[in-house]
Amino acid sequence: MQKRIAIWLAFMMLTVFVSSAWAATPSVVNVNQLNLRSGPGQSFRVLGTLARNTELVVVGLSGDWRQVVTSTGNAGWVFGQHLVEDSRLATTARAVAVDVARLNVRQGPGTGYPVVAVAERGQSLRVMGNVGEWLKVQTALLQGYVRSDFVTEENTAPAKPHATGVPLARVTASILNVRAGTGTQFPVITQLAQGTLVAILTPGAWSQVMLENGTIGFVSEDYIARVAGAATARVDANAVNQRRGPGTSFPVMTTHPAGQVVSFGGREGDWVRVSSAAGEGFILGSFLSFGFLSPEVPTRAEPVKRDLVGFKVAIDAGHGGSDPGAIGVNGLRESDVNLRMALKLRTLLQDAGAEVFMTRTSDVRLTLDERIAVAHDNRADVFVSIHNNAHPLTEVSGTKTFFGITPSSFRLGQAVHRHLATLGIEDRGMHSANFRVLQATTVPAILTETAFLSNHRDAALLADESFINRAVEAHFEGIREFLRGRSGL
Ligand SMILES: [Zn+2]
Repeated sequence: MQKRIAIWLAFMMLTVFVSSAWAATPSVVNVNQLNLRSGPGQSFRVLGTLARNTELVVVGLSGDWRQVVTSTGNAGWVFGQHLVEDSRLATTARAVAVDVARLNVRQGPGTGYPVVAVAERGQSLRVMGNVGEWLKVQTALLQGYVRSDFVTEENTAPAKPHATGVPLARVTASILNVRAGTGTQFPVITQLAQGTLVAILTPGAWSQVMLENGTIGFVSEDYIARVAGAATARVDANAVNQRRGPGTSFPVMTTHPAGQVVSFGGREGDWVRVSSAAGEGFILGSFLSFGFLSPEVPTRAEPVKRDLVGFKVAIDAGHGGSDPGAIGVNGLRESDVNLRMALKLRTLLQDAGAEVFMTRTSDVRLTLDERIAVAHDNRADVFVSIHNNAHPLTEVSGTKTFFGITPSSFRLGQAVHRHLATLGIEDRGMHSANFRVLQATTVPAILTETAFLSNHRDAALLADESFINRAVEAHFEGIREFLRGRSGL
């Protein structure tokens, strides 16, 4: 039973479950008769047979099996070795804008493929390649194919983030009140969690700040700390005018399509000061949404204690290179998220004095044994493999920690998972697993799955810098507790 569960868990882990967000690869059948089955294996029901040269797209994979949709809309699984990539696929990299009111985005390059999304006039699409007249396109939210005759090339380079934007700050208190005025006598509008980024509109003992959702209020400057970063604004409607001044009486400088990103330079009442390729100007705030990004690791209320001097930590960012891991419903690649988290975790551990060994620091593919060797060769005290999860049911969400075979792995897992469980997402518990990276390591080893890329809410959190920072801190605090507990201090 235990073994069956372990095998099932390993299967869940190694299987890349995908949704319509998968960048479907156009392929053709390479044998005379290919069975289309209801699942990834010989034991699944045969739904039909596909003839040689049948056009299809690969939308998912499980081991040697490929989940496919044919150009006539049939869907199922086939044995992958009987497919070859469509030789007409050419890769390019450019941007186009949608020219019609509504443009179907299909799963594959042909009108027989199902529609997976609809792009709207003015929307900007990144072109990854083409199959004849069909462009393989991508945005943050969709991937698929569109007809090239309904789009035009975009020549305008995206606006460079402006150097002299509004300063950003991070909340250092565990909870910070945002008030309607400059003092505690004013009502609380909302509360912010530690690590949340705000834009400082007017600095002061009570700083006027704007939140990412556009809310403006006042916070005590004692509980925020400046961080490097950039505030951007995204145009949410079509044909939005940027004017020379904060009012409709000012001349129009340029008109932005929906999705255009400009840098945020402050507010004048309902108007937002922006900087775009056309220069500095003003856009009505109700047409914009905001995004704050900081490359910095979370600032802590307490100064960093260098209490991990002498400890060695091996960090493994799961997947990489030709293996992206799970693909998020929002297009995020698991391998990228894992690496981002791993690099930030390294910084926190190094700040505390630990010696850190990384299995990878860039987008490369490693074998599982190469990953384990990093822990063993450097005599690491702990091995932490960072992953994020996926499930075929998009409603499945939450955080999970797997631990290796040794009792100390369990204690390490407990320490980290206790912190991950405070992130405000579902607690899916701790599990033992026979993943090779856990089984073959002789040092305390865990594998974390912070959240589900296949779940819309979780995937949005994994795209949010402040959540990533909190998740990284959870890892750090857990590792720290385990190491300090073991050192007997
Ligand atoms: Zn993974």
